[in-house]
Amino acid sequence: MQVNAIGNVSVNKTNTNIAKSKGFSRMDISFSGNVRSKDVTSKLSKENSNLVFTANDKTAKVSINGKNIDRKNILVTGASGYIGSHTAKYLLENGYDIVTIDNYTLGNKDANKELKKIAKENGAKFKSYSVDIADSKGVGKIFKDNKIDAVVHFAAYSQVGESVKDPYKYYLNNTAKTTMLLDEMRKANVNKIVFSSTAATYGDPDANEIPIKESTPQKPINPYGKSKLMIENIMDDADKAYGLKSIRLRYFNVAGSATDGRLGEEHNPETHLIPNILYAAKAQAKGEGGKPFKMFGTDYPTPDGTCVRDYIHVEDLARAHGLALQKLMNGGETGFYNLGSGSGYSVKEVYETAKDVTGVDIPLVIEDKRAGDPPTLIASNEKAKEELGWEPQKSLEDMISSAWNWIKNDKWKKH
Ligand code: UDP
Repeated sequence: MQVNAIGNVSVNKTNTNIAKSKGFSRMDISFSGNVRSKDVTSKLSKENSNLVFTANDKTAKVSINGKNIDRKNILVTGASGYIGSHTAKYLLENGYDIVTIDNYTLGNKDANKELKKIAKENGAKFKSYSVDIADSKGVGKIFKDNKIDAVVHFAAYSQVGESVKDPYKYYLNNTAKTTMLLDEMRKANVNKIVFSSTAATYGDPDANEIPIKESTPQKPINPYGKSKLMIENIMDDADKAYGLKSIRLRYFNVAGSATDGRLGEEHNPETHLIPNILYAAKAQAKGEGGKPFKMFGTDYPTPDGTCVRDYIHVEDLARAHGLALQKLMNGGETGFYNLGSGSGYSVKEVYETAKDVTGVDIPLVIEDKRAGDPPTLIASNEKAKEELGWEPQKSLEDMISSAWNWIKNDKWKKH
């Protein structure tokens, strides 16, 4: 029986429909433990076809048509960071239990608190540890104390400019520490990992290699991209030697915040385009002068002279992690996928869209080019579509309006 599920109880109309959608004529669902059907709610996930149960008794086991359905327990590193927290939220809302590790150098404790609430609302188990991934003793104990089915690994530094100035920071944190984490996984017999890689592993491809396919040669041009590519290579060796199955997701430009406003992007300092435009909009709306949006370079070889990037909504990205996990859980092999939309927007187009979405006449200054910015980066997402069944569902307007909602409300009082 193929049910990617954390199942449902009581045969009512919805369950009959779910049964049909899963190819069953009926669905007998039962719970062990101290649970009665009226204590349990269920939903068919809109984002994927998982059945998600919410029961008060988290120790209860679910069975469907007599077969036990286990909830999967996922270790998420860097779960308090931007992409990590949105992915953790997605997993909690889609039937997974999670254990998080964060050393809170960049992660946000408010994100962790919110995740705890989200777990409770979804009847998911949630444990968080304030530990560095290089603390082998601590990480080893986490694997011992929790039955972990797979790891989703975000914890990393990700600023290109900083990586050029301080490469050791990147090779130590991103490459060496990840290797230590992989070694602890090996010791604990955990052999599945979804890894946040990056478009920066491709460097600055020739114009004829745009849109970038997974077969485009990976030639990173900065220590950040190199630190991530090294890990991809180490994961290939680990597959051959230890049977590690990894799915490496190469992100293009990620933007936006949780649509329900519960999580958002909080980098300090903020370097990314969309939040920077919106901080300028916010300052303008509040009547604070002297905080314009700085546009870096207008003489690139692109249609309007500004850089073109491929933007995806952080919630689309989170869903891709869920699909990658599912693939590994179903016995999938090692793979790597570009996550982008297949088309790009220029910096000027993003700026104009932000003016429309916010209704603010955002002040602008043109600055020199930022070192190392390639003119155009656009992903081909054909492979992700075919093999993961993933494609983005949200638009640039969605990204900007959700980010604007977050930045305007300033929930975590950071800026
Ligand atoms: N950019 C800009 N002003 C900013 C931040 C970014 O003009 O305050 C430009 C940047 O030069 C690049 C594009 O916006 O061309 C996207 O930059 P971002 O840092 O968001 O992502 P990257 O593509 O560097 O990963």
